[in-house]
Amino acid sequence: MANSTSINPFRLALTIGIFALILFLIFKFGIIGLLVVLFSLFLIRYEHPKSTSRIMAEDALPIDMPRTGGEGKSVVVVGGGISGLSAAKYLIQAGCDVTLLERREIVGGNNDPYLENGEHHATTVIITLPAQQPHYLHLCREYGIEQTPHEFEDLKGSIVFEDRELNTKMGSGMGGFLKFIYREATLKELIDGFIIYWKFYRQYRLRPESAKSVADVLGKRLVNSTVFTHFYMPWVGINTWCRFEDVERQPAHVFASFIFEYALTVTIRDKTHKYKEDYWCVLDGRLIHKLRDRLLANERYDQHLNTNVTEITRNTDGGLTIQAEGGKHWECDAVVVATQPVQALPILREVAPKRLTEELDKWKQMDCYVLFHTDFSDIGNRPWLHQTHKNKTTGKYYITNTIKPRMGDLNAKYLITFVYNTENYLDFREHHMDESTIVKLYEPKLPIFNLENSIDRNTVWREIDAECTDVFWTQACRSGLQYHNNGIVSAKRVVRRVLGHDW
Ligand SMILES: Cc1cc2nc3c(=O)[nH]c(=O)nc-3n(C[C@H](O)[C@H](O)[C@H](O)COP(=O)(O)OP(=O)(O)OC[C@H]3O[C@@H](n4cnc5c(N)ncnc54)[C@H](O)[C@@H]3O)c2cc1C
Repeated sequence: MANSTSINPFRLALTIGIFALILFLIFKFGIIGLLVVLFSLFLIRYEHPKSTSRIMAEDALPIDMPRTGGEGKSVVVVGGGISGLSAAKYLIQAGCDVTLLERREIVGGNNDPYLENGEHHATTVIITLPAQQPHYLHLCREYGIEQTPHEFEDLKGSIVFEDRELNTKMGSGMGGFLKFIYREATLKELIDGFIIYWKFYRQYRLRPESAKSVADVLGKRLVNSTVFTHFYMPWVGINTWCRFEDVERQPAHVFASFIFEYALTVTIRDKTHKYKEDYWCVLDGRLIHKLRDRLLANERYDQHLNTNVTEITRNTDGGLTIQAEGGKHWECDAVVVATQPVQALPILREVAPKRLTEELDKWKQMDCYVLFHTDFSDIGNRPWLHQTHKNKTTGKYYITNTIKPRMGDLNAKYLITFVYNTENYLDFREHHMDESTIVKLYEPKLPIFNLENSIDRNTVWREIDAECTDVFWTQACRSGLQYHNNGIVSAKRVVRRVLGHDW
């Protein structure tokens, strides 16, 4: 298991090797060698001020959450996912009276753990890298939730594409990773893989965020290269919500974010991380439950489940009325809608600033299917299996990710498989698994990144929040890769605005 204080012999050898190479270049080629070294060092250190990397650094900064200022203010929060629950927490902390309305029978949103005999089994959500997700990490610490690492480093999983199977240990760092792939890939794939890596790096760190898609940045040859289709797509695409049909509309910087923030981390975001917090950890619903329980214990908190909000109107006296199905309604001073853009638009269109609804209009939704099952025939003893299949009806490729909820647990009782799009879900069920093993099917939705909605989001959302006075919106897709951490950081920023502060 990775320990932040231990010396990694591979890294040490790499550092010595690089140092020796620098000396060799300088002695052998004199001034030219020195210039090459200086340029390389500049490239390693350089970060464009409007790059994704810089934006991620800003997202990781601590946010000072007010402890006063909300006294006497009533706020309705619509949606009980991680965004709505964390917004409610910080509003209560500042003294507001909060009513949370959730249309389902439980809170948690896309995080919907399967409960059996009081035990949580992760379903739609499975991983965190707490050292890269400081807002998530600090909330867990505040609630005494210990991180449970997956034992990636010691367990080889597989990427399977048609007739090829690439076995590697994810999460074992760049060195460990290269050690495994160089044995399995051809020389051409290694070179293509490195060029792709470099192109994404340039897009992520050396250039400002721009409307360049994955296909624009890689070009036709690399997008169709086996290393991209066999490896980058099942490894990265599955985590950035990029289907094969999205390569021309998913911004390259979104795709690159997963590589350099999570898979082969360039900069550790939370320097306070401890052992276990710098590792891939299980995300199993404990944080959601803790937030819910703490909120329910507060007398200034009121929660209504099975409550589908249908309309928000502004009253003549200046307050707001929140209308739900069945005729129930609530009066309040401000509302924070914490639902996905497509869900928020119908209720916000009449009362929110135009700039906000125009931005929400840019987000379409994707259908995800999460099969919770016991078909171990493909995965066997491995902790995870990323696969690329060809849909027998459409003839197009699609990716699946099968994973053990507690990956260290090789004797796991259940498996999760993610599939995107209905036609692929049907194909997977029919041709790649034993349907009788399905315990439960989850159908989470996800806002989809495109070239219009994901560029310089902090500037966009800071400006929009500044225009909002009593009707606010937040959701995980406002920052990063729309993981839990992004739900929390975005909620914090919006709560500050509700209380009259800048971000
Ligand atoms: C397959 C899959 C895998 C994922 N894996 C990870 C992972 O490993 N790690 C990670 O951090 N994240 C992961 N995510 C992302 C994570 O699920 C989201 O970041 C998170 O759920 C977003 O939370 P949210 O509160 O912003 O939105 P949501 O979870 O969408 O919550 C919105 C809530 O609003 C409610 N709502 C909507 N409309 C109304 C209405 N009109 N009235 C009342 N209530 C309403 C909904 O029922 C829902 O509860 C994954 C997502 C999917 C789909």
